[in-house]
Amino acid sequence: MSETVVTRFAPSPTGFLHIGGARTALFNWLFAKSLGGTMLLRIEDTDRARSTEAAIAAILDGLTWLGLDWDGEPVFQFARAARHREAVEQMLADGRAYRCYATAQELEEMRSTAQAEGRPPRYDGRWRDRPASEAPADRQPAIRLKAPTEGETVVDDLVQGRVVIPNKDLDDLVLLRSDGTPTYMLAVVVDDHDMGVTHVIRGVDHLTNAARQTQIYAALGWPVPKMAHIPLIHGPDGAKLSKRHGALGAEAYREMGFLPEALRNYLARLGWSHGDDEIFSTAQAIEWFDIGDVGRSAARFDMAKLSNLNGHY
Ligand code: GLU
Repeated sequence: MSETVVTRFAPSPTGFLHIGGARTALFNWLFAKSLGGTMLLRIEDTDRARSTEAAIAAILDGLTWLGLDWDGEPVFQFARAARHREAVEQMLADGRAYRCYATAQELEEMRSTAQAEGRPPRYDGRWRDRPASEAPADRQPAIRLKAPTEGETVVDDLVQGRVVIPNKDLDDLVLLRSDGTPTYMLAVVVDDHDMGVTHVIRGVDHLTNAARQTQIYAALGWPVPKMAHIPLIHGPDGAKLSKRHGALGAEAYREMGFLPEALRNYLARLGWSHGDDEIFSTAQAIEWFDIGDVGRSAARFDMAKLSNLNGHY
């Protein structure tokens, strides 16, 4: 029996729907459509200081204008904090997580020692095996994952290939902060699991998170969704995409007179291609799209090429 494909687009509503986000949404959408699956939308609004209603509206409008429809109602991550905490209770009960009472000062010492020794900062696991009787009564603990210390964590990525990270390089990450708020890493895993996501397609900047998240899945005894980390988008000169290159919101493209069909066509080719075909319909893109054809090298966004393509629509 073949599984039904479920993808998701999970933007953080801290700004407009920029080119990179729109391309990620498009790849999720094309992949789901090409396999008769569904694409869900999750608004990752846990950063309360930076998430805004205006950004949520801009993202929903941008997706709608681009014709990238999602299935069902958007899921708001912040509203799911109780469920995230429940998953941590399960890990604590199973001995896969523990309470950590390290002070801010202790953590700072670990950080500065690591820096002085020229290695990445790492929590040293000092509360991993300490009995509850030693817990200081005047401090709220953070909850950390009891991460494996030996062996390796493997991410079999549909785009990046097999990525192997030695477990000694990954420390016991925080799942719940001492104020009880869930971390991003935990929330993503619990939400993807509960939403039935089968394929996580997102930017390659999330690849190291994928290893961390794989460890959380293991601790919860949940299957890991398939992952596809797609290449970054650079400017035509190969430099990081900036406003000057056209790193603007979807609404800016609409105002400049670009057509959604042209933008979809152009964005589809940022990292993916179908032979030499440059101009194709969305129906053709759906028919042809194959995540295995996405390359690893950074894609180049070129406003002049987009304008040229727009002229064909
Ligand atoms: N919210 C994250 C972002 O906007 C994406 C997280 C994910 O796709 O797992 O970069």
